[in-house]
Amino acid sequence: MPTGFSLEFTRRYCMAHRLLAGLAPKCAFPHGHNEYVRVRLAPRTNIPLDGVGNMVEEFGAAKQLWHQWIDDSVDHSFHLSERDPLVEYFLEHEPATIPRLLITPGDPTTECLAACFLDKLTAFLLAQRSLLECTSIRISETPTNAVTLYATSKRVLPETPHLPWWRRADMSINDLADSALRSLAVETRDPERAIKAR
Ligand SMILES: [Zn+2]
Repeated sequence: MPTGFSLEFTRRYCMAHRLLAGLAPKCAFPHGHNEYVRVRLAPRTNIPLDGVGNMVEEFGAAKQLWHQWIDDSVDHSFHLSERDPLVEYFLEHEPATIPRLLITPGDPTTECLAACFLDKLTAFLLAQRSLLECTSIRISETPTNAVTLYATSKRVLPETPHLPWWRRADMSINDLADSALRSLAVETRDPERAIKAR
């Protein structure tokens, strides 16, 4: 369990999504939100201040990759379930938009997004050999609705046969670029493009 200091960062981004499972019929039509994500980081072990610099870790270093990912990949992205037929539409008709599609296992609810974000930030911190770990993440979908996920929760996302984007310390928000789904979609609709894509 983390002890002592806790650092907090907040970032804003615009996004769009739609939910198809039927639990929120109003949300089945694509629509957008201006969301805020607030993360709390804490030292993996109790680190005393050194009496000189007096920092656990420099703020800029701790949040650099995370905010770069939010700004460059998540901001203005379109969140879709991997089962959403729109994914196939974009693959076939607007492949240039693929880097803007954030694909989730099941509906891209705020709960699911919080779980993906927590895993992604954890991957970034491990890759940076940071002394910090993420203890909680809070996504405010609207000024009155927010979801908080604590890192002490059991793993909440389904297991996948490959390493999914949310567990990789790269700028990705989907696994479409190299997935079988893409080649299948291309091959079945346009064999010539499938050959070129290889
Ligand atoms: Zn919504």
